[in-house]
Amino acid sequence: MKVLVLNSGSSSIKFRLFDLDRDQVLANGHYEKIGENDSTLHYNDRSQVNNVSNHQGALEFIVEKLTSSEDGVIQSPDELTAIGHRVVHGGESFKHSVLIDSEVLKAIEEMIPLAPLHNPANLQGIQMSLKVFPQAQQVAVFDTAFHQSMPESSYRYAVPSDLYAEYSVRKYGFHGSSHKYVAQRAAKYLNRKLDELNLITIHLGNGCSITAIKNGRSYDTSMGLTPLEGLMMGTRCGDIDPAIPQYLHQRADLSYGEIDRLLNKSSGLKGISGNNDVRQVIEAAESGAAPAKLALEMYIHRLKKYIGGYMAILDRVDAIIFTAGVGENSSFIREKALNEMSHLGVQVDLEKNEEKSREERSIHSPDSQTDILVIPTNEELLIARETKETIQKSH
Ligand code: ADP
Repeated sequence: MKVLVLNSGSSSIKFRLFDLDRDQVLANGHYEKIGENDSTLHYNDRSQVNNVSNHQGALEFIVEKLTSSEDGVIQSPDELTAIGHRVVHGGESFKHSVLIDSEVLKAIEEMIPLAPLHNPANLQGIQMSLKVFPQAQQVAVFDTAFHQSMPESSYRYAVPSDLYAEYSVRKYGFHGSSHKYVAQRAAKYLNRKLDELNLITIHLGNGCSITAIKNGRSYDTSMGLTPLEGLMMGTRCGDIDPAIPQYLHQRADLSYGEIDRLLNKSSGLKGISGNNDVRQVIEAAESGAAPAKLALEMYIHRLKKYIGGYMAILDRVDAIIFTAGVGENSSFIREKALNEMSHLGVQVDLEKNEEKSREERSIHSPDSQTDILVIPTNEELLIARETKETIQKSH
């Protein structure tokens, strides 16, 4: 089965076309600056400016490329019969991926207050895709779905219960497709059944989150009602005293909108060191920049606290897994996050940790009681597989 995976942002569409039967990626790319003067399609290794006024125009041009005689990969748009959409927020309505129908569209729309930046763009992408691919079965795969297995004691905040009942204030968690994908891969790697495994999966990209997985299911995760909670990230603050926004509102005369932007866009590594790119922060720290050193110390300190916390709430940890840009590539962050944890049975093999590879690999020493794995994430592949499964189940 061929599956086209779409991830629609407010002015961008990322896409990847899979041939799942042959285990192949047929095409890969993204459209950016949709609706601006220099909209650009990056298709496989090439870029081309082609102005389009909206997502429909962008999708139509992507199809033109996919079917072109020059660098196309399919004969006709009719081959695109399965489309998987990444949707950020599925609230409590979606515990699994679903075939898209009018009810699902309505529910995604109702979730907009929970994800005002993402769900409108995801919804727009789906609506345009329904127009451009009327022959296809289309599936929504939610970032939040994997975490719907959390027990109430994990997902509730200690605020008056009315706020949960009336305003859906609770922890939802994000990066679900990534945590689920690396958990599934870890089970394969360890040759174990996923539902017998307890794992700690650590997704460190620009956004960062960590999940405690019990018997293969999400048991707790660091992101919350929104992706702002939890670990320190590239530009997001992660956990702070919840009284800080009110304090800043009064003392610094900032509006809540301004505070929200500050905490989402100008905080984290960027807020402390001026730079949100981990590679550059490490370089700056190595050349002696004190703010960069502090930023890394804070990033690692917080990461260690979460790892330790999740070890405590799981009765046993079979593996700790690193993934995403930083987790897959930075031996420095991995080493610092797990060093001095031998009292918890966790020991990194420093040589294995330094090896550069794009493969799934283990980096623990023989004495470690917990396996430590590096597993490249592939959210698009997970979305493609879930799309196929959802369509097959519906028959
Ligand atoms: P996104 O969350 O946007 O998908 P990625 O998963 O691509 O982000 O991760 C981006 C982050 O990965 C950046 O902070 C970048 O510095 C970091 N990164 C990529 N390669 C390395 C590396 N070799 N060492 C340290 N950090 C790296």
